Amino acid sequence: MNSGPAAGHRVLILGAGLAGLFLALRLAPRPCIVISPAPLGEAAASSWAQGGLAAALSAQDSPQAHAADTIAAGGGLVDPVVAGILAHDGPARVADLLALGVPFDRSPDGALRQSLEAAHSFARVARVAGDLAGRAIMDALVTAVLKADHIEILSGLSAAALLQDANGRVIGAACHDAGFKREDILASEVVLASGGAGALWRITTNPSAALGTGLAMAARAGALIADAEFMQFHPTALDIGVDPAPLATEALRGEGARLVDQTGAAFMTRFSPLGDLAARDVVARAIHQLRSDGGQAFLDARAAVGAHFPQAFPTVFAACMQAGIDPRISLMPVAPAAHYHMGGIATDLWARTSVEGLSAIGECACTGAHGANRLASNSLLEAVVFAARCAQRLQAEGALDQAGGAAIPAPLPPHLPREGLQRLNSIMEAHVGVVRGAGDRAGAWAQITQLIAQYGQSNPLLAAAFIAKAASLRLESRGGHYCPDYPAPQEPPIRSFATLADLDLA
Ligand SMILES: Cc1cc2nc3c(=O)[nH]c(=O)nc-3n(C[C@H](O)[C@H](O)[C@H](O)COP(=O)(O)OP(=O)(O)OC[C@H]3O[C@@H](n4cnc5c(N)ncnc54)[C@H](O)[C@@H]3O)c2cc1C
Repeated sequence: MNSGPAAGHRVLILGAGLAGLFLALRLAPRPCIVISPAPLGEAAASSWAQGGLAAALSAQDSPQAHAADTIAAGGGLVDPVVAGILAHDGPARVADLLALGVPFDRSPDGALRQSLEAAHSFARVARVAGDLAGRAIMDALVTAVLKADHIEILSGLSAAALLQDANGRVIGAACHDAGFKREDILASEVVLASGGAGALWRITTNPSAALGTGLAMAARAGALIADAEFMQFHPTALDIGVDPAPLATEALRGEGARLVDQTGAAFMTRFSPLGDLAARDVVARAIHQLRSDGGQAFLDARAAVGAHFPQAFPTVFAACMQAGIDPRISLMPVAPAAHYHMGGIATDLWARTSVEGLSAIGECACTGAHGANRLASNSLLEAVVFAARCAQRLQAEGALDQAGGAAIPAPLPPHLPREGLQRLNSIMEAHVGVVRGAGDRAGAWAQITQLIAQYGQSNPLLAAAFIAKAASLRLESRGGHYCPDYPAPQEPPIRSFATLADLDLA
């Protein structure tokens, strides 16, 4: 066990996406270790973000309007205090990113250029070179992190379990390398920044590491999990047989691209007065319905983007061209894909979880900012806003130099082999997808518990169990959770919370 000289003061950050790296930078001069399963900047959803980061930066816009849009999109479950913080802190965090060298797009007068995305009442998404926001933000952060003396990066390690002392305080993490060689790392505070859970589904836009590992580790340590049933399905993943499915960013529809069916007819106005710019859950269900009825959905950007496509959306253009589709002259086939987990480890306004010594930030956390349905481009924002707040708190608490007791020996949870993950992917896709009927809700839980009986309580299976259980208990339709047998939302809106004990697993 590594109990190194600085173990009593340092912060251990599990995950090296935007949330983890931004926190690491803001912690200076408090020492920290960042665990990154892959080389820095890789295997993180942050690097793949295409649309950009939402913040009220224009003269016409305001944090109040941004918060109101966030609340309206979230299906009645957004915590208004959290939405207010998110929107209020947004412009300052964009200024931080600019100071780090992120080259956000500017208009000829030098002002930051902002794009319109679905369900935003103003153009407020800051982008970089069309669809390269995530890559550019991560490049700037990686450069800064590599220069920072207080940050130690451990690449090639993944965390599998949290270490706790006899009082239940989290005091470190059990990690392993690609060959499952174990390495325990102690710290005075552990922060989960391990990203989302989209790779539990068969069709996803997420990196393969997005298996809800953080959620499972936190739950095993006793943490409260919130709103686990709410997964956002991105309506327009490119349906070109590639895994993970490349995204056709929502900004395309913001620029005027239209959703059309196999006959070339636009169809979204049949489903919502907002048409192509309706909220994501509405668009995802419309496309799901079209496909279930034997139709096919396409994104038509020929008129709206046309010849500018390669410059305006270089990532989408490259993905299409690799599949032999030229989006300047052809339609792009699209399908919904698991994209963003609104639920996660319940945290307070300062990123504390319910377990002492453990914080969570970024997509693995559930701050209450997204409710049942995330507003587009609010997740990069949430990652930086709550990473900054977490850092502020840990800076203040660092002076207290809290040291935990000795770690209680804990075995690593079982590894889920490839065939087990494939079976889990199919279950999630079939039964915990865009539409969840009565048979799906019961079937998912039954089949996941069978997999647990066969493979043990691996992290992906435990995360999936939380999601399936919460989905089986929510007998209404709200945001990303749609039950055809309960098509209306129930009043009052109620968030879901569960601990490991609530799952009642053998
Ligand atoms: C294709 C795509 C496009 C998107 N576009 C946008 C957009 O335009 N705007 C927007 O706001 N949001 C967008 N999102 C969502 C957004 O990118 C994510 O919500 C956000 O980047 C999450 O940041 P994060 O730091 O929490 O997670 P990530 O960036 O995913 O980082 C998680 C880190 O944890 C690591 N990790 C995973 N498991 C472990 C483990 N067991 N131990 C240690 N480390 C671990 C990962 O390797 C990675 O380093 C998009 C997502 C995708 C997939």
